[in-house]
Amino acid sequence: MSMKKIIKVKDIEIGNGKVTIQTMLSKKTTLVEENLADIIALKNAGCHIVRVAVSNDDEVVALRKICEKSVLPIVADIQFDYKMAIASIEAGASKIRINPSNIGDNSKVELICKKAKEYCIPIRVGVNMGSLDSEVEAKYGRTALGLAKSCIKCAELLESFDFFDIVLSVKASSVKTMVEACKILHKSTDYPLHIGVTEAGTKETGVIKNAVGIGALLLEDIGDTIRISLSAEPIEEVFASRRLLKSLNLLQGATVVSCPTCSRCNYDLFTFAKEIEEMTFDIKQNLHIAVMGCVVNGIGEGKDADIGIAGGGDNNFVIFQQGKVLKTVTSDNYKEEFLRLINEKIME
Ligand code: SF4
Repeated sequence: MSMKKIIKVKDIEIGNGKVTIQTMLSKKTTLVEENLADIIALKNAGCHIVRVAVSNDDEVVALRKICEKSVLPIVADIQFDYKMAIASIEAGASKIRINPSNIGDNSKVELICKKAKEYCIPIRVGVNMGSLDSEVEAKYGRTALGLAKSCIKCAELLESFDFFDIVLSVKASSVKTMVEACKILHKSTDYPLHIGVTEAGTKETGVIKNAVGIGALLLEDIGDTIRISLSAEPIEEVFASRRLLKSLNLLQGATVVSCPTCSRCNYDLFTFAKEIEEMTFDIKQNLHIAVMGCVVNGIGEGKDADIGIAGGGDNNFVIFQQGKVLKTVTSDNYKEEFLRLINEKIME
C-alpha cells in the first residue's frame, strides 16, 4: 500500500499501509450498555474503529460513557451543529467526522478545529454527493470532480485554521462516481482516505457494490480505511470488510476456495464449504483451503492449497496438500479428518 500522512485515532493508525476496518453503531446512541456490548462483539469480529451519531445533549452524555469504557476508538459523527462537535470532543471522542459545508459559518468550523487541536484528535472531512459545497456544485456539477473538489475545499478550510490532522472521504451511492472522486483525491492530497460506497443497499447488493468500488481502489493502492455500508447489522459490515481485505491479501487469515460443482460431484459441497468457511473464519494466519467436488479436476485446481479435499467415487474423499494426495477418507469421517488436518496445519 502507498504511504500517506499517518493519522492516529487513539491507538489505531490510519495511513500506515495497513487498511483498517470501520463500522457505525446502529442502536440509539443513548443505549450505552447495549452499544458497549456491540462494540466488544465488533472488536472480536475484526473491527478497528467505530463511529457513533451524536445529535443532541443526551447523546453527548451517552457518548462520554461509551468513550470511557469502549474497547475500540470512537468517532463522533456530526451532521450540522458545531456545538455537538465541540461537546463530543470534550466527551472523549477519538475523532470526529464533519462535513464543513454543513456546519455553516466558517468561524464555527474554526472553533471545532481549535477544540480538536486542543484535544489532539483528528477530523474526518466527509463529503457526500448529497452535501456538496454549493459554489463547487455550481461550477463542476454533481460529478466525481465536483465531489473531490468539494472535499479538497473543505480540507483547505481546515488548513487555513492551521489544522492538518485530517482524514478525507468522498462517498456516493454510484460506484463509478465514488471511485473516480477517490482517485482524484489520491492524486491531489497526502491525507489518508476513508473509502466506501454509501447507501449501498441491502447485504447482498451492498456487498457487491462495495467490493467493486473499494476493491477497484485498493487494487491501485488507494484507500487507508474502509467502511462497507450495508442495510444490515454493523457486524455484517465488519465480516464483509474482512472477506474483502482477505480476497486482496490485505489481511491475514484463512481463505476457502470451492468449486461451483457439476454432475461429477457426489456430495453436499455447498453445505460443507460453508461449514469450513465458518469454522476457519477467525484463523489469524494465512491458510489456503480448497473444497472441491471431485478428484477429476479438484486436486489440480486446488494445487495452490495448503490443504484441500475432493470428493471421489464410492463415497471416498481425497485430502491433498499443494496438489499431492495426503490420504483417502470415507464419507463417515471426512469432516472430522479434514478439520483435524486443518488444525494440524494451523499448529505448524
Ligand atoms: S472440481 Fe469436479 S465437481 Fe467441481 S466443478 Fe470441477 S469437475 Fe465439477
